[in-house]
Amino acid sequence: MIEFWADEISTPQIRGGLLRLRPGRLLISPGGRIKKIEKISASQLRFYSKKIKREKTIIPGLIDAHTHLVFAGNRADEWTQRLRGVSYQEIAKKGGGILKTLKATRAASLSDLDKSAKKRLRECLSWGVTTVEIKSGYGLNLESELKVLEVIQTLKKQNLSRIVSTFMGAHAVPKEFSTESLYVDYLIQKVLPKVKGLADFQDVFCEKGYFSEKESIRLLVAGKKMGLWPKVHAHEFARSGGVRVAAVTKAASADHLMEVNDADIRQLKSAKVIPVVLPGTSFFLGAKKFAPLRKFWDAGLKPAIASDFNPGTNPTLNLPLCGTFAAIHQGMQPDEILTAQTLNAALALRCFDRGSLEVGKQADFIGLNSESFEEIYYSYGMSQVVSAYIGGKKVL
Ligand SMILES: [Zn+2]
Repeated sequence: MIEFWADEISTPQIRGGLLRLRPGRLLISPGGRIKKIEKISASQLRFYSKKIKREKTIIPGLIDAHTHLVFAGNRADEWTQRLRGVSYQEIAKKGGGILKTLKATRAASLSDLDKSAKKRLRECLSWGVTTVEIKSGYGLNLESELKVLEVIQTLKKQNLSRIVSTFMGAHAVPKEFSTESLYVDYLIQKVLPKVKGLADFQDVFCEKGYFSEKESIRLLVAGKKMGLWPKVHAHEFARSGGVRVAAVTKAASADHLMEVNDADIRQLKSAKVIPVVLPGTSFFLGAKKFAPLRKFWDAGLKPAIASDFNPGTNPTLNLPLCGTFAAIHQGMQPDEILTAQTLNAALALRCFDRGSLEVGKQADFIGLNSESFEEIYYSYGMSQVVSAYIGGKKVL
C-alpha cells in the first residue's frame, strides 16, 4: 500500500461537484487503484512520517481527449505567412496546409514518427496529462494510416502516458480520389478491415467540402461493426449535420461545435454525446469565435476541454493553457475546467476507470507545486506539475 499526503487534494466526483481536502491523504492499493481518500487534520500533517510521500497539491491526471499527435514536419513557415496576411487558400494552393503534413508524414519512416511522437508525449506529461487520445489522419491511404496506427500502438507500450487510439482516415479526401463517396468505399472495403484491433475509435471530419452527413454515417456504422466506437468533428465551420451524425451513430463525442443552436444542444444531450470543445484552436485562429461551452455546462451536458494539438491550427500540448482560455473566453470556473479536463474527458474516451480520485479508480494523479489546484489555470503558460503517477507508478 502506498500513501500520499498533501496540503490539498482536489478531485471532481462522479455524482457532481468538487471534493476538496485540505489537507488530505490518498491510499493506493498494490494493484494501482485508489483504496481510500480522506481528510486529515493540519496537526497530523505537521507530524507526518518521512516514510509517507508528500505533495503540495494533488489532482487527477489530466486527460487530453483530442489530439493529432503523430505527424512529420511542422508549419511554422505558413504561420509566419498568415501573420503577414497571406490567406489559408493561397497557402493551400502552393501545396501548404494539410497537404504539406500529409506529404511529410507519408515520406517519414516509422522510427522518425515514433521519435517525434515520444518527444511530444513527454511534453504532455510535463503539463500533467496522463491519458492522451491520438488520431491518425495524416496518411490517408492504407499504408500510411497503418504506419501511424502502428506508431500509436508502440506508444501505448511506453510508460509515458496512457494512450487511446483513433482511426481518422476521413480527415480529408486525398486527391487520388475524385469523390468523397469513392474514398469512403475505399476506407470501408480496404482500410477498415486492416484497422480492426489497431484503434479504439473512428473519427470523421463531417463538414462541407470534406465528408457529408450521409457518407459520415455510412463510414462510422461500418467502423462500429469492426469495434471502432464513433467520434465526429462536428459543426466547426457550419451546421453541416455533424451533431445529427453523432446522435444517430451514438458517438462517444462530438468535437469542435463552434456553430451550434439550442436544438443541437438538446440533441447532444438526449443522445448522451459528450461535447469536446477546443478553445486552443479558437485562440490560435485569432480568438474570434469559441464554442458555447458555458451553455453546454448549464444545459446539463458533460463537456470536455481538449487541446486539438495539430500542426495547422493548434501547435501546443499545453492542456492547462487551453483551460485558461476557457476561463477567459468561455466564462468557465476553475473547478468546472478541471472536471472538463479529467472526469468529462474520460467519458469522451469511454475510459470509465479514471478521471477522478475516487475509490476503485485507477490511481492516475499529478502533484503540483502550488497552494491550490486553481493555479494550474491561473499561472498560465507556467508548469506547476512536479510529479505524475499512472496506476500508482511514478512516471514523472
Ligand atoms: Zn481535430
